[in-house]
Amino acid sequence: SSDAPVASAAPVLLLVPGIIGPSALGAGEEPIVLADGTAPQLRVTDLGVTRGEGAFETIGVFDGRIMALAPHLERLQRSATMMELPELDLDVLAQAVRRAVDEHADVPELLVRIFVSSGPEGGAPGTARLTAWIHAKAAPDYSGERAGIRVVALDRGIPSTAPQTSPWLLAGAKTMSYAINMAMIREAERRDAQDALFVSSDGYALEGPTSTLLVRRGDTFTTTPASAGVLPGTSLGSVVAGLRAGGLDCTEELLTPAEVAASDGAWLLSSGRLAAPITHLDGIALPVDMELSRRFCDLIAGRAQA
Ligand code: PLP
Repeated sequence: SSDAPVASAAPVLLLVPGIIGPSALGAGEEPIVLADGTAPQLRVTDLGVTRGEGAFETIGVFDGRIMALAPHLERLQRSATMMELPELDLDVLAQAVRRAVDEHADVPELLVRIFVSSGPEGGAPGTARLTAWIHAKAAPDYSGERAGIRVVALDRGIPSTAPQTSPWLLAGAKTMSYAINMAMIREAERRDAQDALFVSSDGYALEGPTSTLLVRRGDTFTTTPASAGVLPGTSLGSVVAGLRAGGLDCTEELLTPAEVAASDGAWLLSSGRLAAPITHLDGIALPVDMELSRRFCDLIAGRAQA
């Protein structure tokens, strides 16, 4: 392990030309290549850049343990399939994630992001060559958010039925077009909050721009059904396993923001920030159980047994 301070640990970049398997590799080309993260690497015509057409994942690595790798890779494939990208070689990706962790200096909290784009513009149909890369960097200090966040509900402008009626809206895909999600966070900050909650046009609380909603009502925990066009959260999966082990369960139900604000507690869960308890929703105070919040963080980070 390194004695260097976290901030000085340089990010690691790996290019993954073997993303769709060995058949797409040139003679002698390695499936995973360590690259210079400070040098230009992408073509300016890459569809990930020109159209935001691609998928990504952010994986948390805590004390060297890679969390929920298989669920992240399955979700990456799901997003890619929604954009009609070819089948990914998930074994190569898993190997690349492990390599990125090995190449990076030891830090308590590391974020490993996988990006897969449609590749350069102008490829003939059937000859698509995806662009894939992995970037690992030390996580920022999330202690403030883990102590509590003020959240505002913001209209997403599409109904909770969008995945069924309008699959081309890609609701529930983790695409490389996160400009709207970032704009939501800026709007939340303008309204004196740290995060936002997407609300469907038919009035239901959906998810945060980078997180899953979990709500407590008595001994019942509730999250948004994936069928409403939210991203199926891997952190939620870890928390649900922990709740089940403790004899509690988590149901899927659509709730209104008013119901969330009147609940016995609510969290926004994600792989890097972990469990952020909502202290206020649209200015209305919610109860915060810090002990339970810490337990959720430990479950997602693999620092506690389910
Ligand atoms: N919902 C959205 C829109 C996200 O972008 C994310 C993660 O970034 C999540 C939910 C939480 O997913 P996970 O718990 O797998 O990090």
